[in-house]
Amino acid sequence: MRLQFLGATGYVTGSRTLLETPRARIYIDSGLYQGPSYVQDKNYEALELDASSIDAVILTHAHIDHSGLLPLLVKKGFAGVIYTTPATRDLLEVLLPDAAHILREDFKFLSKKKIRDFHLSGPLYDEEDVKKTLERVHPVEFAKEHQFKDITFSFHWAGHILGAAYIHIKVEGEPPKTFLFSGDIGPRKHIFHNNREKPPRADYVIMESTYGMRRHEKENYMNKLRKSMEWIKRKKGMLIIPSFAVGRTQLVLYVLFKLWKLFPELKLQIFVDSPMATRATRLYMNYPHEIKQEIIHEGFMQFLQSRDIQYIEDVGESKYLNYFNGPGILISASGMCNGGRIVHHLYNRIWDSRNMILFVGYQAEGTLGRQILEGANRVKIFNREIPVRTKLETINSFSAHTDKRGLEAFAKDLNSYQKPPEIIFINHGEDEPRYELQKSLSFMKSTKIEIPKSEAVYYL
Ligand SMILES: [Zn+2]
Repeated sequence: MRLQFLGATGYVTGSRTLLETPRARIYIDSGLYQGPSYVQDKNYEALELDASSIDAVILTHAHIDHSGLLPLLVKKGFAGVIYTTPATRDLLEVLLPDAAHILREDFKFLSKKKIRDFHLSGPLYDEEDVKKTLERVHPVEFAKEHQFKDITFSFHWAGHILGAAYIHIKVEGEPPKTFLFSGDIGPRKHIFHNNREKPPRADYVIMESTYGMRRHEKENYMNKLRKSMEWIKRKKGMLIIPSFAVGRTQLVLYVLFKLWKLFPELKLQIFVDSPMATRATRLYMNYPHEIKQEIIHEGFMQFLQSRDIQYIEDVGESKYLNYFNGPGILISASGMCNGGRIVHHLYNRIWDSRNMILFVGYQAEGTLGRQILEGANRVKIFNREIPVRTKLETINSFSAHTDKRGLEAFAKDLNSYQKPPEIIFINHGEDEPRYELQKSLSFMKSTKIEIPKSEAVYYL
């Protein structure tokens, strides 16, 4: 058996691991690198891979940093099967076309030098490659064993986003060897989704470490939300929530639903102005068993289809929203305000002190969201300097990733088996959190904790 770490070694994006068995060459995940341009450049370096030699890809989940390289693989000759959970397959139909669109836009701004250096004649891939990719996807239900050549694999609930799974792989042989790929691990107590499962036992575990050195702070998000709602009602303004379309938007809708059960007098009209968020929300309605059952029983699915929420589809309707005076709630993407319809809404409303921006996710450096969050007095939108007069609020506790303690708890679960893993490989994290997590897993006396370097190969 040969295990090679091709991506996300020292990074939180670009997940891709190669597992070679006597009869199969399999990629676990095939993600795009995202973030600053020196990180994104790695996507173009990946052009050299021999995609036709790969037999199958098994995906942990649909996030682009785990799936976004798939269309490139297909473009480069990959002719195998892509295995996913059913919800991941559906989410890919929403996310991959968007990735193609972003790559097309990115290509317009690539320097001549980069185009020359990377031998590019167009974007990394296009919508046609996405279409061919989606035709290769074969969904497999959670917990069902599926055989492919000399491996048997199964998906197990990781509690991260809709469809997200750990992948357990058993490779035939004397004795058989088992692998567990964690993908991204959800928080121990998810607000909205079912909590993650106990990871199944495996000889070799490849685990993420995004927050290997961070503890999520505890906060009373309901209280913050209630106060924001009271304020916006009083001012008759708009509560603008920049939100990622998949996962975060649905979580925000849920906490609004939860708040209004307690304080019906705070109810306001919600506008979801993002075609992607609308499509993703409809998908959530097809997978109620991945959501906490008490939430379903409370009537959340009915709420999603109620008149309390107006899903804005076309651009005309979105523009019409400018004339809505409030009070109301406007949820729009992108989550970091660096593209999408949210930018138009900020352009139209950020100068008005009756409005509030509620940040519910990470704002990366260099984004408009970060500038606003850091208290800029003026921001440049569509080449115009606009004063920032909106009130700002932040909720930090909606992360779909577990923190340092949750990662330790995941390892403890593995350690509780009669035969703990031989090796845990810590991947999908920056180097500092990876080494920090390695230290904190030293309680696993019979397990070697390994930090793989880029392209490192292990014969197991
Ligand atoms: Zn993820």
